Amino acid sequence: MIPEPEPKEIDEKLEIELRHLASNAVLKGKPSGAEKCESCRYYLEPHKDISYCWHPKLRILVGDQWWCQWWEEIPAE
Ligand code: SF4
Repeated sequence: MIPEPEPKEIDEKLEIELRHLASNAVLKGKPSGAEKCESCRYYLEPHKDISYCWHPKLRILVGDQWWCQWWEEIPAE
Protein backbone atom coordinates (compact mmCIF):
# COMPACT_ATOMS: atom_id res chain seq x y z
CA MET A 1 0.00 0.00 0.00
CA ILE A 2 1.25 3.47 -0.90
CA PRO A 3 0.67 5.84 2.04
CA GLU A 4 -1.60 8.83 1.51
CA PRO A 5 0.40 12.07 1.06
CA GLU A 6 0.28 14.36 4.06
CA PRO A 7 1.97 17.64 5.10
CA LYS A 8 5.39 17.26 6.66
CA GLU A 9 7.07 19.30 9.40
CA ILE A 10 8.73 21.52 6.78
CA ASP A 11 5.29 22.33 5.33
CA GLU A 12 3.97 23.42 8.71
CA LYS A 13 7.10 25.56 9.28
CA LEU A 14 6.83 27.21 5.85
CA GLU A 15 3.10 27.75 6.27
CA ILE A 16 3.68 29.66 9.51
CA GLU A 17 6.50 31.74 7.99
CA LEU A 18 4.47 32.61 4.90
CA ARG A 19 1.37 33.35 6.96
CA HIS A 20 3.38 35.88 9.04
CA LEU A 21 4.81 37.42 5.91
CA ALA A 22 1.36 37.74 4.30
CA SER A 23 -0.09 39.15 7.49
CA ASN A 24 2.64 41.81 7.81
CA ALA A 25 2.01 42.87 4.21
CA VAL A 26 -1.80 42.78 4.68
CA LEU A 27 -1.63 40.61 1.56
CA LYS A 28 -5.02 39.91 -0.04
CA GLY A 29 -5.99 37.66 -2.93
CA LYS A 30 -8.13 40.47 -4.39
CA PRO A 31 -7.48 43.99 -5.69
CA SER A 32 -7.98 47.06 -3.51
CA GLY A 33 -9.93 49.33 -5.82
CA ALA A 34 -7.71 49.99 -8.82
CA GLU A 35 -4.60 48.83 -6.96
CA LYS A 36 -3.42 45.29 -7.70
CA CYS A 37 -0.14 43.47 -8.13
CA GLU A 38 -0.38 43.62 -11.91
CA SER A 39 -0.08 47.43 -11.76
CA CYS A 40 2.52 47.56 -8.97
CA ARG A 41 6.15 48.47 -9.55
CA TYR A 42 7.30 45.36 -7.66
CA TYR A 43 5.43 42.87 -9.88
CA LEU A 44 8.23 41.57 -12.07
CA GLU A 45 6.34 40.30 -15.12
CA PRO A 46 3.06 42.28 -15.50
CA HIS A 47 1.92 40.24 -18.54
CA LYS A 48 1.76 37.03 -16.48
CA ASP A 49 -1.04 35.78 -14.19
CA ILE A 50 1.49 34.84 -11.51
CA SER A 51 4.78 36.62 -11.03
CA TYR A 52 7.59 37.25 -8.61
CA CYS A 53 7.13 40.23 -6.27
CA TRP A 54 10.53 41.76 -5.63
CA HIS A 55 9.46 43.97 -2.73
CA PRO A 56 12.26 43.45 -0.17
CA LYS A 57 9.75 42.46 2.54
CA LEU A 58 8.04 39.86 0.35
CA ARG A 59 10.10 38.15 -2.39
CA ILE A 60 7.41 35.57 -3.16
CA LEU A 61 5.20 34.59 -6.07
CA VAL A 62 1.90 36.50 -6.15
CA GLY A 63 -1.14 36.66 -8.45
CA ASP A 64 -1.83 39.57 -10.78
CA GLN A 65 -5.15 40.35 -9.02
CA TRP A 66 -3.65 40.30 -5.50
CA TRP A 67 -2.80 43.37 -3.46
CA CYS A 68 -0.78 44.34 -0.38
CA GLN A 69 -0.18 47.47 1.67
CA TRP A 70 3.14 48.12 -0.08
CA TRP A 71 1.55 48.62 -3.49
CA GLU A 72 3.31 51.38 -5.43
CA GLU A 73 2.54 52.88 -8.77
CA ILE A 74 4.86 52.02 -11.65
CA PRO A 75 7.00 55.16 -12.10
CA ALA A 76 6.73 56.99 -15.39
CA GLU A 77 9.90 56.60 -17.47
S1 SF4 B 1 4.42 44.91 -3.31
FE1 SF4 B 1 2.39 44.10 -2.78
S2 SF4 B 1 1.03 44.96 -4.35
FE2 SF4 B 1 3.13 45.10 -5.10
S3 SF4 B 1 3.47 43.25 -6.32
FE3 SF4 B 1 4.19 42.87 -4.25
S4 SF4 B 1 2.45 41.92 -3.23
FE4 SF4 B 1 1.67 42.92 -5.04
